[in-house]
Amino acid sequence: MKERDPRPYRAHQLFEALYRRRIADMQAATDLPASLRRALDEEFVITDVEIADIFQASDGTRRYLLHLRDGVSVESVWIPEPYADTICLSTQAGCPLACAFCMTARLGLKRNLDAGEIVAQVWLILNDIYGPGAKPERGVNLVLMGMGEPLLNYENVLRAIRLFCDPRGMGISQRRITLSTAGVVPGIRRLAQEPVRPELAVSLSATTNALRDQLMPINRRWSLEELRAACREYPLRRNEWISFEYVMLDGLNDSDEDARRLVRWLCGIRAKVNLIPHNPDPELPFTSSPEARILRFQQILRAAGIPTFIRHPRGREIAAACGQLAARRREDLMGSLASSEPRIRDGATPA
Ligand code: SAH
Repeated sequence: MKERDPRPYRAHQLFEALYRRRIADMQAATDLPASLRRALDEEFVITDVEIADIFQASDGTRRYLLHLRDGVSVESVWIPEPYADTICLSTQAGCPLACAFCMTARLGLKRNLDAGEIVAQVWLILNDIYGPGAKPERGVNLVLMGMGEPLLNYENVLRAIRLFCDPRGMGISQRRITLSTAGVVPGIRRLAQEPVRPELAVSLSATTNALRDQLMPINRRWSLEELRAACREYPLRRNEWISFEYVMLDGLNDSDEDARRLVRWLCGIRAKVNLIPHNPDPELPFTSSPEARILRFQQILRAAGIPTFIRHPRGREIAAACGQLAARRREDLMGSLASSEPRIRDGATPA
């Protein structure tokens, strides 16, 4: 913009049009002179991320399959909830981490998303659900829990977060954004220093190095001890907790002893725990702990004073639940999830 019109207010006008009003067509930036609009239109696209398909589950959850400029696919998930809606974003196409229970891991890492591609996910979904520029009526939470490991794409993720939080743009509160990491310890320490930073979630899923090494190979790089030290030193704000995600795997990490070890491990950390029943897939060698086991596990943590919640799966039948993001198309879905009776329809925007 500096080259085109050096006055800062021009750049602000464009910024507001793109991020606050979410114009999809440069011509809609009517506060800019027509000649400038035309010049911008000729030289730039607002976003080159395209919605390739939308899958809607019976509970209203929607999975967006997105195509990037180089033909790579990623996904985002829209999760309507009673008091606020949640958008689950991807930060990488695929993932390099190789967690044994996760379908995204099977893709390997295709590449990092740039900040624009991260922001475009929210931009496209808000425009699809509410229409261009319309304000989400219930507010929106963002969770960086889709494909990829956000702390391995640190610069672009933080850039995207600053764009989400800019009051002249989308104006989303940093406290309504949650970044989830599998345990990139240097990234956690770096995040602690950021003036604008999201809430932190850590995917734990095991309480011994022996098991965590197997389930989440990143543990071989940063052990449970190193992860714990980084969490204990993490400076929490008022009313802030670190959330720990724990995937419940039948007979592997769900014993009473695991629960008690988890209590000891969390000692000295202001922690919340989310227990996630394992989302199965024919390609994954695990099953979820039975409900009674999950309830018992929860009870042990709660008795020790740790707020513990069971995260009920959303959008399982459209492959949108935790760990299911693998850029599956309609054909794939029919084959691979046939046993769970996919219920799919075209994603028409509700009136
Ligand atoms: N890489 C980051 C961001 C992804 S978040 C991280 O690992 O935190 C995705 C969440 O889904 C993680 O908490 C992960 O533990 C969980 N998950 C992965 N596979 C799953 C599965 N099959 N069932 C349930 N949860 C799963």
